[in-house]
Amino acid sequence: MAESQNGSFPFFVFFCNFVPMNIDKERVEELRNLLAEPKNIVIVGHTNPDGDAIGSSLALAEVLTARGHQVTCALPNNYPYYLRWIPNSENIIIYRNDEEHRTEKALDEADVIVCADMNSLTRADALGEAVAKNTTAKRVLIDHHLYPAEGFDIMFSYPDLSSTAFLMYSVIVALYGKEAITEKVATQLYVGIMTDTGNFAFSALTPELFEAVAVLSGTGIDIPQIYNNVYNSFTEGRAKLFGYTINRKMKTLLGGRVAYMSLTEEEMRRYWFQQGDNEGFVNYPLSIKKMKMSAMFTAQAGFNRVSLRSRGNVDVDTFARRYFNGGGHKNAAGGKSFVSMEETIQHYIDSVNEYHAEGLV
Ligand code: 5GP
Ligand code: MN
Repeated sequence: MAESQNGSFPFFVFFCNFVPMNIDKERVEELRNLLAEPKNIVIVGHTNPDGDAIGSSLALAEVLTARGHQVTCALPNNYPYYLRWIPNSENIIIYRNDEEHRTEKALDEADVIVCADMNSLTRADALGEAVAKNTTAKRVLIDHHLYPAEGFDIMFSYPDLSSTAFLMYSVIVALYGKEAITEKVATQLYVGIMTDTGNFAFSALTPELFEAVAVLSGTGIDIPQIYNNVYNSFTEGRAKLFGYTINRKMKTLLGGRVAYMSLTEEEMRRYWFQQGDNEGFVNYPLSIKKMKMSAMFTAQAGFNRVSLRSRGNVDVDTFARRYFNGGGHKNAAGGKSFVSMEETIQHYIDSVNEYHAEGLV
């Protein structure tokens, strides 16, 4: 009543009818038609899978399985131990360990292949190559990275969104309504949103995102428990490795505005390293007030993995593309270096200086 008297009532009505997220309705209808009959579907995520890749893939799998489809989730390599509790994660096939060739069998029979949280098949390495062999299945992209590759029949590419999980929520709701968001699906999606937004601390925190989270919360999911499962479930080795990395390995450039850290295989062994143990380390230098950019170099079999983070206008997606065979988002990107750790670090220092000379950092 008060609203209509002070003139804000029409605005209020407009707000109630607000479409949660403006995703392309034509694409939604194409996907609806594609899924009108039961199909064999394979959902694929990127190498070094994170909470967003896993959560959004499993949520879509759960929703489509409940609607009569035969769904297989495959990832190129294993994911960190602190994500192993996610509902249905035990059903994911890890392509690298797939001695029974279940992935190839599913890909051979697939009518539809969905790529989630990746902008190109190259992001899934050998699994991407296996996907490329199936030239008849319809290919669907559901992703929030910049510069999506060509070759997809139906594309949902929204680089402005915080997470693929939020996009997946929007696609699921557009297809089947909010009733499709069960508590299990909500848990899977919440993991993706929580991890890709740094527990709601990074950019792209829109009202629409919080409306989606309100729906997820309404299913009864245990938000503190999900937080604890992911962020308070590490090993003692990780805590010690973190202390060592910050204390002994963090170096700064440009008067303390750019940081980098590195971990060799020997250092990782010293702290009983398990996959994912250094996840998030790269963010820590950005807790220093004047820090604009941070890098973490981690030794892997045959190359050094590069992780980059930045604040504000410093664009690490461009930096990763230019200097480290990678990409990602403006403030969070990654890549690979195929030279020694010393050469990788020197290349980073030279690249930072070049970027600085162009006024980009
Ligand atoms: P992270 O540092 O957490 O591994 O990755 C940060 C972001 O960069 C993620 O969005 C991830 O998808 C992207 N990214 C990481 N590594 C690569 C890479 O080798 N190539 C590309 N194109 N993107 C990457
Ligand atoms: Mn993501």
